[in-house]
Parts: sequence; structure tokens; C-alpha cells
Amino acid sequence: MCRGKNIPRAKKSLGQNFLRDKNIARRIVSLLDISGPERVLEIGPGPGALTDFILEAGPAFLLLVEKDPYWARERLQKGAGRLKVILADALQMNWAHFTDPWKFIGNLPYNIASPLLWEIFPCAPGLTRAVFTVQKEVGLRITAQPGTAAYGALSVWLQSFSRPKAEFIVPPQVFRPSPKVESMVLSFLPLKKDAEKAGGLLARPDFNPRSLARALHLCFQARRKQLGVILRGLGAEAQIPEELGLDPQTRPERLSPEDFQRLCRYAPFHAPQPEPD
Ligand code: SAM
Repeated sequence: MCRGKNIPRAKKSLGQNFLRDKNIARRIVSLLDISGPERVLEIGPGPGALTDFILEAGPAFLLLVEKDPYWARERLQKGAGRLKVILADALQMNWAHFTDPWKFIGNLPYNIASPLLWEIFPCAPGLTRAVFTVQKEVGLRITAQPGTAAYGALSVWLQSFSRPKAEFIVPPQVFRPSPKVESMVLSFLPLKKDAEKAGGLLARPDFNPRSLARALHLCFQARRKQLGVILRGLGAEAQIPEELGLDPQTRPERLSPEDFQRLCRYAPFHAPQPEPD
């Protein structure tokens, strides 16, 4: 199990494909625009391909979240004052605690990227910018436009809470071990409900995230059915209220994120109220 100076073999279960190309690591970190007294969170630092460049950029504080005890301990031993390491599962983090301005970064394990990004963007109020490396196919889904095969719930969800941008493709051979697929680096500019207060950030349209999630779930499990048919299946009127400006003959795969944000105001898509305590 151990090789060389007791470095454990990369764990497939933790999506451990370690980046070995310093130029690419530097390029990924530069996309985060660390420019002053900012707090940065890195998800899954592993041996630290990105970590060293983040520290070089001089953030006020760097928080590392790593699930592998070996790599969390390694980094702790190299730790400096501006750095804190948490041994934790990023999928279990409470993102609502990130209220101050934060920037997030990570070469994400392929197997958790979609559920993790789904959670982070609506829940972390202080997030000002993020840069994540994901499997190329997931990156294409995140940035997909209506009417394309890659367009789906993940595209609408993330485009409703941020402006995702495909930055560049990373080939498999720069990772050890090499994955079977290409990766994509994406940058994200979060959209804010209180954009004015947050200064310079883009405004997020007003919608109920729980209703949007419900609408996406109900619509994309029948992406080729007409909206009216989906509504009748829910026992509702197929005729969508006129003020929502949506044609009942349209199919979900053709609706833009803004269309879904309006659609989820229609009662059949309202999320059930939480149970009283
Ligand atoms: N940042 C390093 C690099 O670029 O070489 C490692 C990237 S590797 C693709 C993913 C890292 O995430 C690994 O260090 C792995 O142990 C860690 N990891 C896997 N699942 C995790 C989880 N649920 N929460 C936090 N870290 C996780």
C-alpha cells in the first residue's frame, strides 16, 4: 500500500487524480483573482498543487477542506499562520456559515462535483468568485444553452445562481494517476440577492430556490414532453397563467433559466412548506 517515503497510493474512492503540471496549476489559481485581504477556501488540496500558488498570491486567510486524513495531516505539518486545515467531507459542510467575502477553488473529485456545486452556489452568501476543475462533460452541462443535448437541471440551477464560464480544457496526462477523461476549468461569478449591498456583484432574479429545484426535477424527468402535458400529469391546468409568458407547447429542454425562474412561480411547482416544529 505504501511507496517511496510512505506516500499512500492515490485513492480512487476519493477521486484522487493529482495535478502534476505547475504551469496549469498557476493558471488555475490566477483565475481566482486573489488581489487583497481575501479569504480563500480550497476544497480537496491533496498534496497541494494549487495550495502553494494560492499562498503565493497572499490571501488574508486560507481554509483547506480535505477528506483524506493523510493529506490533511501533511498540510497541517507544513501549516502557517494564515492557513487552517479541516479534515472533513465537503459534501457535509454548512455553506450558510460563509457570510464574509470568500473565494472558493478546487480541482474537484469527479464523483462529487455536481452535488457539491449544486449545494454551494445557493447556500454560501459571502461567495464572490469561484474556480473549479471538473470532468469536461460536467463542465459542458454546467455551461450548456437551451436546446442542446447537454442542457439540463444542472445548467439551469447553476446559471440561476451564477455566471459560469468555461475557461480551458486540461488533458488527462497532467494528472497522476491519469483519469480516462478530459477536465474543464470553470470560473463562476455568483449572482446575489442583495447585489447592491455586496457592491459590484451581479443581481440574482427573485425566485424561490426550493420551487425552482422542484420545477427542474419535475420537468427534466420528462424533458421532451410539452409543458402542458407535464402540468396535466401533476393534476393541474395545462394553461399556464398569461403573465408568466410561457407557451404550454414548449418542451423543458427549450426553456431558458429565466423561463424556469418564472415557471416556478406557478402553483403546481411551489415547494411544499417545511413541516412546523
Ligand atoms: N488539489 C489537488 C490537486 O490538484 O492535485 C488534489 C485534487 S484531487 C482531484 C481531489 C482531492 O479532493 C483529493 O485530495 C481528495 O482526497 C479530496 N476529496 C475527495 N473527496 C472529498 C470530499 N468529499 N471532501 C473534501 N475533500 C475530498
